[in-house]
Amino acid sequence: MLYDRDSIARALKDLGAKENVPLSELVSFRVGGPAAFVLQPREEATLCRALNVCRAERFPVILLGNGTNVLPPDEGFEGLILQLSGDGSAPAFEGEKVVAGAGCSLTALAKESVQRGLMGLERLCGIPGTVGGAVAMNAGAYGGEIKNVLRRVRCYRDGAFVWEDARLDEMGYRRSPYTWPGTVVTAAELQLMPDDGTAAETMADCMRRRREKQPLSLPSAGSTFKRPEGHFAGALIEGCHLKGCTVGGAQVSELHAGFIVNRGGATAGDIHALIRHVQDVVYGETGVMLEPEVKRLEDLVCIF
Ligand SMILES: Cc1cc2nc3c(=O)[nH]c(=O)nc-3n(C[C@H](O)[C@H](O)[C@H](O)COP(=O)(O)OP(=O)(O)OC[C@H]3O[C@@H](n4cnc5c(N)ncnc54)[C@H](O)[C@@H]3O)c2cc1C
Repeated sequence: MLYDRDSIARALKDLGAKENVPLSELVSFRVGGPAAFVLQPREEATLCRALNVCRAERFPVILLGNGTNVLPPDEGFEGLILQLSGDGSAPAFEGEKVVAGAGCSLTALAKESVQRGLMGLERLCGIPGTVGGAVAMNAGAYGGEIKNVLRRVRCYRDGAFVWEDARLDEMGYRRSPYTWPGTVVTAAELQLMPDDGTAAETMADCMRRRREKQPLSLPSAGSTFKRPEGHFAGALIEGCHLKGCTVGGAQVSELHAGFIVNRGGATAGDIHALIRHVQDVVYGETGVMLEPEVKRLEDLVCIF
């Protein structure tokens, strides 16, 4: 251990960090051991101070939004989780533009924009992440993606926060240049359009399709695998008769084979083992190697 843990603990607790928090409380899969420290910074200044503390001591950091696309380890994480989620700041609408903090709920933002007579986010309603997580992942659904409305991004660069034009050329399917490790997004400016009269209906339709087709009553991280070129992951998995397949408390959803769910009591190890099993079987039977969309928390560790 190269860092002075006591002095880090003091500095982080002064900023409002909690100690020894189960990761299972921070992620939608509801698995994972304890995180040494968790901080939900309300202001950029606090976020900056926390990053400086960790940089000075080379203490490991992970950035999360709502934790709806990550799988943490059972062993937990000896470091700081910075969670930009639920900061409570209201999005600022001005004409057809809106500036939203990274911790805003994407679904709440989509609903509010439709209520205000704007369209552009209605297909993303129901994605359970934050605005920051959506930018980082280029979240999308039902033919829409955040990239289509993203104009500017507020990021941490060399010790300061700056607005940058969105690097749309570098954004693609579940991919962006704004993702941690390394990049912190604290806000996004979106350019919406006047509603042509279809936004509310489209939003309701997308939400209905989610309720009917997705196992929303069980913990998951949404689609476990990316869509392979020319295929649908769920259809390949179902075609290999893996629906309902279980390892411990982890199960390939009986409702939607593209989702792995925590039926209760799953460990991260169960989920990893099931992911590998599904990959092996699907590869063996179809020749298609499924790539996880869900990120392993271990892969998000950043030491400045
Ligand atoms: C039931 C369910 C349905 C889902 N449906 C969809 C869907 O239809 N479409 C879709 O795209 N996804 C879907 N998802 C996955 C997930 O909600 C999205 O990927 C979402 O954008 C993740 O946001 P988050 O705030 O939870 O990010 P997290 O899961 O916390 O983080 C995801 C990644 O983004 C990084 N990150 C988070 N915040 C920031 C930030 N401020 N700055 C830089 N990097 C950051 C993290 O470090 C991590 O690498 C679904 C998940 C569930 C559980």
